[in-house]
Amino acid sequence: MSNAPFPTIHPPTRILMGPGPSVMEPSVLNAMGRPTLGHLDPAFLQIMDELRVMLRLAFRTDNELTMPMSGTGSAGMETVLVNLIEPGDRVLVGICGVFGQRMAEVALRAGAEVVKVEGEWGRALDPDALRKAGAGGSFKALCVVHGETSTGVLQPMEEMRGIADELGALLIMDCVTSLAGVPVEIDKWGVDAAYSGTQKCLSCPPGLSPITFSARAQEVLAKRKTKVASWYLDLTLIGSYWGQERVYHHTAPINGLYGLHEAVRVALEEGLETRWARHRAVSQHLYEGLTEMGLDLRVPAPERLAPLTAVAVPAGADDALVRGALLQNFDLEIGGGLGPMKGNTWRIGLMGAGATRAHVELCLAGLRSALA
Ligand SMILES: *Cc1c(COP(=O)(O)O)cnc(C)c1O
Repeated sequence: MSNAPFPTIHPPTRILMGPGPSVMEPSVLNAMGRPTLGHLDPAFLQIMDELRVMLRLAFRTDNELTMPMSGTGSAGMETVLVNLIEPGDRVLVGICGVFGQRMAEVALRAGAEVVKVEGEWGRALDPDALRKAGAGGSFKALCVVHGETSTGVLQPMEEMRGIADELGALLIMDCVTSLAGVPVEIDKWGVDAAYSGTQKCLSCPPGLSPITFSARAQEVLAKRKTKVASWYLDLTLIGSYWGQERVYHHTAPINGLYGLHEAVRVALEEGLETRWARHRAVSQHLYEGLTEMGLDLRVPAPERLAPLTAVAVPAGADDALVRGALLQNFDLEIGGGLGPMKGNTWRIGLMGAGATRAHVELCLAGLRSALA
């Protein structure tokens, strides 16, 4: 084996219009290149405090326990479930895509007795199906995915608090793809615990997961009879670092947190309502363009998730060939399908900095060319 020096990397510049990572905000990448501080440096502690305040604004909550976890969106999912579930707890999980399935799997591994309510992929869950499956039972938690990125469906949340109350359950929500792209209202919807990610509508590289816990969820955590099964994700430990005590737990990913600080700052500066309206308007433009090309959208209009559009691969077109041509000729990445949608569906992301008319035009031009 040669010991010749390895060259430094020069990744190509791609336009990321798949299910995430998304088009990055340039100021976020700049922020991540700023000087690394010690994780107990007063200048860093101030950045942490500001970030927590901004995350509360982004989640639309007053929840004291609101902070970013070290790890991607799935680490946020695991944090919420492993901190709230104790072995033997019954958990009702709504599933109509990959991320609902993942929640059920993580809850199971946390020791829950999982009751699954399965819906059609490409449609929202029927609240009555949740009610029916839970009828008469007592549950620790009701878990739903707000923006199901595998299918491009937005789950209406308004009825969920009422259903969770009927079950005596905490309401847990995955808002990885919805946060900062479509309305997320933690307090108004009565959500007890939620997690998100950085690389979708926040346009920040992957690696962190903002979470929020209601006072009720915090109480459930405080009253656990058993220790949280994961040491790394145990909020009773890590909360002491993010709280006033500043007790060392693990070294915070300093530069990643600079990036998230900048990403949330930019989202709040734009204004959440303006940002939601932008995602809605730009996705509408994409729907029209795809429909004009004769392509079929997978999700009925009222249930569409603006940041992620699922479109049927037309008869005669080869899924992988088209995506390959987009990457090769346009430096443009779109996503393929997952599960039952594998091979027959494209997933087009319009997230954060990528949610612009120019990106829609580029994607439509690329598709026209690749399909011709
Ligand atoms: C991307 C995503 C996740 C998982 O996040 P990772 O960052 O890939 O770990 C979870 N839920 C939803 C809805 C997602 O879109």
